[in-house]
Amino acid sequence: MRIRIPAGLLSSAIWLLASAQAQTYRSHIEHPIARYKMSARLDPVTKRVTGQYTLTWWNHTADTIPDLYFHLYLNAFKNLDSTFMREGSVSRRGGREGWFARPDADKWGWVDVDKIQIVGGPDLTRLQVFVHPDDDNASDQTVMRIVLPKPIPPRGTIELAVTFTSKLPRALARSGFEGDYFLMAQWFPKIGVYEGSGDRGRKQGGWNCHQYHGNTEFYADYGVYDVDLTAPSDYVVGSTGFRRTEHLNADGTTTYNQYQEDVHDFAWTASPRFIKVRRTFDWGNEVRGDEILKWAKVLNLPADQLALRNVDVTFLLEPNHLNVADRYFRAVFNSLKYFGLWYGQYPYDTMTIVDVPRHSATCCMEYPTFITVGTYFWPAEYGLSPEGVTVHEFGHQFWYGLVGNNEFEEAWLDEGFNTYSDGKVIDEAYPFHCGYNYFFGMPVPAYSWLSVDPPSFPFAGVGGVPVGSLFSCVQFPMRTAGRDFYLNNVKDDDLVRNGWQYLNGASYGLNSYTRVGLTLRALESYLGEDVMARAMRTFHQRWRYRHPDTRDFIAVVNEVSGRDMSWFFQQFFYGSNMVDYTVSDISSTPLEGKVGLYDEGGKKVLYAEKSAEEAFNKSKDKRYRSTVTVRRLGEAIAPVDVAVQFQNGETVREQWDGQYRWIKYVYDKSSEVKSAEVDPEHKLTLDSNFTNNSYATREDNRGVAKWYVRWVFWLENLFFAASFFS
Ligand SMILES: [Zn+2]
Repeated sequence: MRIRIPAGLLSSAIWLLASAQAQTYRSHIEHPIARYKMSARLDPVTKRVTGQYTLTWWNHTADTIPDLYFHLYLNAFKNLDSTFMREGSVSRRGGREGWFARPDADKWGWVDVDKIQIVGGPDLTRLQVFVHPDDDNASDQTVMRIVLPKPIPPRGTIELAVTFTSKLPRALARSGFEGDYFLMAQWFPKIGVYEGSGDRGRKQGGWNCHQYHGNTEFYADYGVYDVDLTAPSDYVVGSTGFRRTEHLNADGTTTYNQYQEDVHDFAWTASPRFIKVRRTFDWGNEVRGDEILKWAKVLNLPADQLALRNVDVTFLLEPNHLNVADRYFRAVFNSLKYFGLWYGQYPYDTMTIVDVPRHSATCCMEYPTFITVGTYFWPAEYGLSPEGVTVHEFGHQFWYGLVGNNEFEEAWLDEGFNTYSDGKVIDEAYPFHCGYNYFFGMPVPAYSWLSVDPPSFPFAGVGGVPVGSLFSCVQFPMRTAGRDFYLNNVKDDDLVRNGWQYLNGASYGLNSYTRVGLTLRALESYLGEDVMARAMRTFHQRWRYRHPDTRDFIAVVNEVSGRDMSWFFQQFFYGSNMVDYTVSDISSTPLEGKVGLYDEGGKKVLYAEKSAEEAFNKSKDKRYRSTVTVRRLGEAIAPVDVAVQFQNGETVREQWDGQYRWIKYVYDKSSEVKSAEVDPEHKLTLDSNFTNNSYATREDNRGVAKWYVRWVFWLENLFFAASFFS
């Protein structure tokens, strides 16, 4: 135990929690909506999972529900007529390595509900009908509906016995197989979400069960997964939840019972090549007492509310990535620490991370207590691989896992929050990191400068090869990450929009990730970091194990800040107008007193220019009139700071509401104006052109080699467009 507690400052409650935590999970949900008691068996030869479950589903609403909706996600990969395929999603979702080129029939995926029956009641199998709520594609089979012989009453429960067969696709869009590696995700028939009136602002109750689209992710209710997984005994198996039992079967397979409450999904993996490495996140060792006090102060909370839990962390590693294990674990531990301190402790006992094989199209995805990540054999030392993706995917335990937004309709609520939050973790834990490197004078993105893995043998476990030292790091601020991608594409869509209705995959990426990160940083600038931190925590805590929408977040921001920030959300979440402020002119003229003809004593008296100038030059009390013109070039209106500096070192700060197109500040002072800058701290991360903010700076900038700037912008664009995680 190594927690350092300043004497008398920290309550003893934390000490007790840190030293005597029992790893027993207690549910936080009074009434789970979906309980799955399931068994599933993987056959690596036929690439099939056969399974059965009993689903106990609770109608939490006051509605009488006449039907059931199920997601049959794997049918997205059944043929070219699924909506997923028609949307051209194969390349977008990782099928770049010639998914289509492979002639094998094995590559298609599907799921059949072989039998569905009400326990102790009628067989519903023949009542299955495919529906397509999002489009007019009658061929899509990713959503199935059953009209019940008898509706489910308000607060009533239905119990279903389901038998299914899932044929896994050649890995695509997060799930499937590649060789003897299997990632079972979106793999079983899964009940949709029934939303009552009032849920997420809904006027009338109904099922929310969207088709599988190329861009969109998922949405489900919280419940319990009690799953027996059977796979060949030489396979290493990992999944959502913790392992209760392990049973060796006579046929050379092993059955593992995995269990988790308070989650809304279940995924698993199996491969004979995984190397399993397990370590404990011991929060007493990982978090110092003064760090708790620091964040308790920021959040304005008693320190004991920032207590964390120990977590059993398991990595399933590619054999040739053992050398990256320490960095992987450090990234997860840093994430458990900061996400936990900021938003509330990670409540589960386990965390399983799959280091997926390269080019398996299953990388970088989040499931409750289970994520997929990836890296390179020789990751650049400060290139944020594997840290970037690991922190991001872990962050989804908080955004999407614990706060269960609808990823179909408001992807930004988890991807964007996570982009903001993982950037903050990187700021804290990895303040020195490179966005790109110089390699013999050429900037190269740090994420992907070595994107080819050598074969496992004889390199397995070799570490510390100093290739990274050939590169020199270019620091990369997370705060403005992806700005150029944003500036080039912001006009494609508004931020808040259904995931499948963005212009294209890049726009989905921009509006779900990059733009939200930038926009939340701008919001933080207006609220202040402490208020923002409190708003984020309040939103998280209030909506844990529930389904918020965008309006719920706005309400929390307004409530916690005590300000009406509607103007901000209206413009930057629901609109696409650009911000651009500039200092267009500064000038100073001497105040020389009278020059010209003046009526004095009944006569016109001449004050000559020259004598006025001479008098001014001799004067010990010179005065100047300085004018600073600030203009709003963009259509978006946001309050902005202006800093004016005078030759004598004096600085004046102004605050402009930005309402009209321009404002002129006039000063009569003993010194001339030297420079002026609008938004000097670049708080408005969304400003489309920082180089025109400062009058002086703009003059200095003319010598910059434009080709170089363009090259770097192009690289950043490429980097951000290509590197979206899920
Ligand atoms: Zn994500």
